[in-house]
Amino acid sequence: MPQPFVTFSRNVFIPLTNVCRNKCGYCGFRREIGHPEAKLLSPDEVSAILSGGARAGCSEALFTFGERPEEVEGFSAWLSRLGYDNIIDYLVDLCKLSLRTGLLPHSNPGILEKRELEKLKPFNASLGLMLETAGTVKAHVGCSGKIPEARIKTIEYAGELKIPFTTGILVGIGETWDDRLRSLKIIRDIHEKSGHIQEVIIQNFIPKPGTKMASFQSPGMKEMLKTVSIARKILPEDVAIQVSPNLIRPGELVRCGASDLGGISPVTIDHINPESPWPDVLQIQAEVDVPLRERLPIYPQFVKKRWYSDEIAPLIRRLCDTEGFRKAYK
Ligand code: SF4
Repeated sequence: MPQPFVTFSRNVFIPLTNVCRNKCGYCGFRREIGHPEAKLLSPDEVSAILSGGARAGCSEALFTFGERPEEVEGFSAWLSRLGYDNIIDYLVDLCKLSLRTGLLPHSNPGILEKRELEKLKPFNASLGLMLETAGTVKAHVGCSGKIPEARIKTIEYAGELKIPFTTGILVGIGETWDDRLRSLKIIRDIHEKSGHIQEVIIQNFIPKPGTKMASFQSPGMKEMLKTVSIARKILPEDVAIQVSPNLIRPGELVRCGASDLGGISPVTIDHINPESPWPDVLQIQAEVDVPLRERLPIYPQFVKKRWYSDEIAPLIRRLCDTEGFRKAYK
């Protein structure tokens, strides 16, 4: 049954650092320290991105970066030059900067301890961590952050803390169908206990040049349609299914149950998939059969339940309409 509308958010993508302790076989984003493109964005660089987003009418600052970069030799010296001894404290200050600029933060820092989630909660409208897969895949060999149990634990902690949460699976990274089903059922079970999952991303793997999986194939449309249809059957109705319109054409997937298109940025590229530009919102609208509706990085049901802190309440009130979606702006 098609949804009455499809949601998306207007965001800026902030790749805080591309240094990461993991070495996923499909990753084209990570850089070794010493590589000319390895970076940690300064507050001024982040501020410039945020200001550009505010001018373009964005409501979300998506902070995405490598996991626990402090475990990579040389990174702590970069952080300490900025006055920090860990990336989470730096992120908290950047989230505060984002709120001052008028954008609601949504951070994806990788697996976290409960105390780290507690630090981030007051300054984020929502947080995210892809489960990716509950299976054991070659692409994750040697990646300490890709142990499924550790990722599940982070998602469970977020539920205990009542943090609106985004998770998802990667399709085509070497997992089996059984892994996919198990991953979706795990997410369902966590949500049935804590009620905090707002969306599940069903993301198709795209091979990146220069990576171990450069010669692997993306899952085709047929496989993605099957995965989205099954996800819609497994997941509770209040959990949206998200597909990425810069990675796959969304029209048929929406007919199969996808109801969200994630963040679409008018000002920044998808730094994880830089070869895949965002389609224009009007272009997407021409492809899907139902109206597009803009939302905030916190879904309406969590706005209504007031699952947000006093720190971000004024900005949420300023940005959202009476139904909890994004208020029309000039
Ligand atoms: S995919 Fe994410 S976790 Fe894996 S190496 Fe790249 S940045 Fe790190």
